[in-house]
Parts: sequence; structure tokens; C-alpha cells
Amino acid sequence: MIRTSSDYRAAIRKDRDIFLDGERIKDVTTHPAFAPAVDLRARIYDMQADPQHRDVLTSTVGGHSRTIIAAVPFSQAHWWAKRRANERVFSQLGGIASRTGDETVAEFWSLRDCRDALVDMDPQFAGNIDAQILASQTDDLFRISANTDPKGNRAEQPGPKNPDTLLRVVKETDAGIVVRGAKFETAAPYADLAYTKPNIANWGDTLPDEYAVGFICDLNAKGLKFICRSGFSRPGTERDYPLSNRFDEIEALVVFDDVLIPWEHVLFHRQPRAATLIRSTLHRYSAFFFVHRILVFADFLIGAALLSCRQTGIDREQAVRDKLTRLSVWREAIHAHLTAAIVLAEKSPAGQMMPNQSLLFAGRVHAVSELNAMMQIVRELSGGQLALMPSAASFDDPETADWLKNYLSIGEDVVAEDRRKLMAFTRDLINSEHASHKLSFQLFGQSPPHAHLASVYHTFDWDGPLSLVRDAAGLDDKTCHKGPTAPETATYGDWHAPDMPERQHSLAEFDALEENLS
Ligand SMILES: Cc1cc2nc3c(=O)[nH]c(=O)nc-3n(C[C@H](O)[C@H](O)[C@H](O)COP(=O)(O)OP(=O)(O)OC[C@H]3O[C@@H](n4cnc5c(N)ncnc54)[C@H](O)[C@@H]3O)c2cc1C
Repeated sequence: MIRTSSDYRAAIRKDRDIFLDGERIKDVTTHPAFAPAVDLRARIYDMQADPQHRDVLTSTVGGHSRTIIAAVPFSQAHWWAKRRANERVFSQLGGIASRTGDETVAEFWSLRDCRDALVDMDPQFAGNIDAQILASQTDDLFRISANTDPKGNRAEQPGPKNPDTLLRVVKETDAGIVVRGAKFETAAPYADLAYTKPNIANWGDTLPDEYAVGFICDLNAKGLKFICRSGFSRPGTERDYPLSNRFDEIEALVVFDDVLIPWEHVLFHRQPRAATLIRSTLHRYSAFFFVHRILVFADFLIGAALLSCRQTGIDREQAVRDKLTRLSVWREAIHAHLTAAIVLAEKSPAGQMMPNQSLLFAGRVHAVSELNAMMQIVRELSGGQLALMPSAASFDDPETADWLKNYLSIGEDVVAEDRRKLMAFTRDLINSEHASHKLSFQLFGQSPPHAHLASVYHTFDWDGPLSLVRDAAGLDDKTCHKGPTAPETATYGDWHAPDMPERQHSLAEFDALEENLS
């Protein structure tokens, strides 16, 4: 089913307890802080129905239309199609929406990989898991991820002294479980469902049972309170802050004040091992979408820097070209990681096409760790006008307009208004409060940097370099025992080979991944 934007708006226009800066929000679809983000998601729904974009964003399976993003990937063609679909969306939106549901839908492909292991642990939720995986592919609802609790003292386990540091089950009823706690969630005030699971942490099997729960939360459920951070959009400043006013996706601390989760929405319950399994495999697909957004962001950075350099004529300087080249080298390496992750994809436990894990996670580290430095290059190339440009109102004011036209036009080609627009756009890309918030999102939104590194540590094939040096130095085999988490490497040829080795097939093999905190 392909959803319409009006169905989406109607579904989120329910009586939710949403709070922003001391105000209770009645309707997120019209409130100025939320409406722009709602419009972005609605625009994607509209594009799915638009003949101009429909074929890139949707396909027909068994007579039913589905989004290309939500389909479980089984081939390289599926991945290229997903990448094309998101590129079409971003080019039409004119900016990057960080949370549109694709990352969370990809978490369901990981769930599908874990399905048999979860059912081995506790068969009672098998039907729920299957139903939720199917729904995530077919109903086109807006799903988000709820992982992060406020956590309190990270060095302490949750327990009787600090019961509220993680979300927990406080009661079981005939209708379902009752949960209490809080989670940080981007887009929660205007999404449909939150895939909710325990926080990233090295709890292992010692996580008390009541905290080891995973479920789908209907964001219209009674007892949810959405306490939002302040927004960046300011009516009347759209021309000065074009991105703040269109791409602010407000996060909320979502409080679960004894919320009833119906049994049919429960995926696992009282299963610390399930919690670890789900968290350790969560981003094996969704990291692709996360990194892909940074690739698109890189193109925005390069375009903004190059346009400014061309306007001011500094692109003839070799030192300037070197900086532009550094941007493009960073961009191309992200592109290469994404592309290679699919070309050298691995077969997942459920037979899905999983991006090559080592390449994908290494690409995530590369993209995120260099991002701040790349923004600094754009800042440098744009020059001080980025911070000094008067507002659009001054360009309109008859008393000042002519001065600005005179001094800020560049020759005959660049009119002052275009220079202003470019500086305003670039400022909102790299300098404004909105820009630094997006930088924090890239740093933490999927998981913190130390977890990004841990993912590479646990997926890189250490055996290659080990055996290279063992053989070259003539070392004894015992010196180079195989580590417990080193996976088989897959190659393009492996993928097509009939005897492609299945990875992490058994529970024991999943256990070996327990330390992977991605
Ligand atoms: C803009 C934004 C949007 C977000 N959206 C969502 C969302 O939609 N859903 C969601 O669930 N979460 C979301 N988050 C939360 C995000 O997942 C967390 O911020 C992130 O997991 C880090 O957790 P924390 O903030 O509690 O940091 P902490 O756990 O306090 O960690 C802070 C720092 O301490 C150090 N540290 C902590 N533990 C270790 C360790 N074991 N080893 C080494 N160093 C360590 C690291 O330097 C780390 O960066 C969002 C965050 C941001 C900023």
C-alpha cells in the first residue's frame, strides 16, 4: 500500500501530549515549529504518487504497490534502486531530511536476520515478529527508532536504587505489558510508530530482565508525553535561514508514563540476550542510509564552496583548488565505501543482501570523523561574508538596498541578491544553530563515535594482515590464533557462488558478536 499525505496528516493530528518551550502543542501539522518537518514527510508521500517520481520510489509486488525503500534487499539491484530513490527525494526536497523512516525500516531487516535466534530464545513472540516485519514493508507508515534512554550514571547498572535510568516493564496484564521510562527520539511528535528497544550499552546478560524488552510503540498511545527541544524555525526569517525553517526535525524526550503495549506489538520480553542481539546487529543495513545522507551533504558542501569561489574568482588559486580537492576526496571516499559495500555485499543469516559490513562501517567512521574538518574548509573558502552578510530585510529596505546592490554585486554576472542567497544558504548549512545541531546528529544520531569504531573492530577481517605478517616473519601458527569475532570475508564472487558461506547462523555465533555495540 502507498499512503497518501492526507492520510499521514490525519494519523498524526491526534490528541498527543506534546510540549515545546512551556507550550502545549495542539496540532503538529500546523504549528510553525513542526509543520515544516511534517511537510517534508508529506512531500515524500506525494512524490510516491506523482507520475514524475512514482517509478523511482515505488514498485508493484504481487499486484500491490510498495515503496522501494521498505522492500527487504536481496540483490544489488535492490540497493541501487534504494540509493536512487533517496537521491531523488533529496534533490526534490532541496536539502536533507535526516529521519524519514528508511533507517528504521532497515532495522527490521536486521530483525528479520535475528528472527530464528529470537524464536529459539522465546517462541511466544514469533508471530508478532513476522507480522511486524511484514507490516514494515507494506503499510508505508512513518517509523522511527527509540533506543536512547537518559541513562543517568553510565557506570551503574539499572536496579532498585536507580530504576528509571532505562525504560522497563512495570506490569503485565491480559492486554499487554505496561512500560515506564523515557527515550530520546527524533521526529517522535509527528511519526506513527517507534521501534523501541534497549539502549546501547555493554549490559550483556546482566541486564535485569524487566529492562530487556523490545516492542513497537504506537505514538498515539495513551500515557506518552513528548517533551521537545526548542525549534530553529522562526517565521519571517525564511530567506535568511532557509534550512532552519524547512529542515528542522524536532527531537523529543518521550516519556512513557505507564504505557500499555499490546501483546501483539511485543517482540521480546525478559530476554537480556535478545536485547544484546538486537542492538549488536541493529545498524548492519541502516548504516547505509545514514552514510548515504552524509554523501549528499558532501555534495551540498562542495556545491556551496565552489559556487562561492567561482563568484569571487578565487578558484584560479592553486591553494583554493587544493582545498576544493580535499572536499572531493572526502566525498569520493564515502561514495567508494557505499558502492563497494554493495558490490562486495555479504549474505545475511536470513539470506538477505547485507552491505559488506567492514566497508560500510569503515565508511561511516570516515564520513563522520572528517565531517567537522570539511565544514571548516567550506567556512574558510566562503570567507568572512558568510558571517557578515546583512539580512534579506536590508536588501528590501529602499534606504539600504542600493548600497547593498552596489557593494555586494560581483561584476555583471553576480547580482547582490544571489550573493546574499548563497551566503544565507551556506551559513545555514555550516554556521547556524541548525547547522551545528545537524553536526551533532551526524556524530550521535545513529550511535556515538566509539560505537562506530567498535563496529569496524568487530567486522574487519583481522586474519588477512595477521597471516600476512605470520608468513612473512615465519611465526608459529599459535601466535596468530583466530579471534572470536572475525567474520569470513565475502567477495563479489562469493555472493554468486552456490556455496556462499552463511554467516552468524547459530545462536552460538550470535553470542560471539555480543561485544559489538553498533
Ligand atoms: C540530534 C540527535 C538526534 C538523536 N536522535 C535519536 C533517535 O532518534 N533515537 C534514539 O534512540 N536516539 C537518538 N539520539 C541519541 C543518540 O543515540 C545518543 O546521543 C548516543 O547514543 C550517545 O548517547 P549519550 O548521548 O547518552 O552519550 P553518552 O553515553 O553519555 O556518551 C557520551 C560520550 O562518552 C564517551 N563514552 C560513553 N561510553 C563509552 C564507552 N563505552 N567507551 C568509550 N567512550 C564512551 C564517548 O565519548 C561518548 O560520545 C539522538 C542524538 C542526537 C544528538
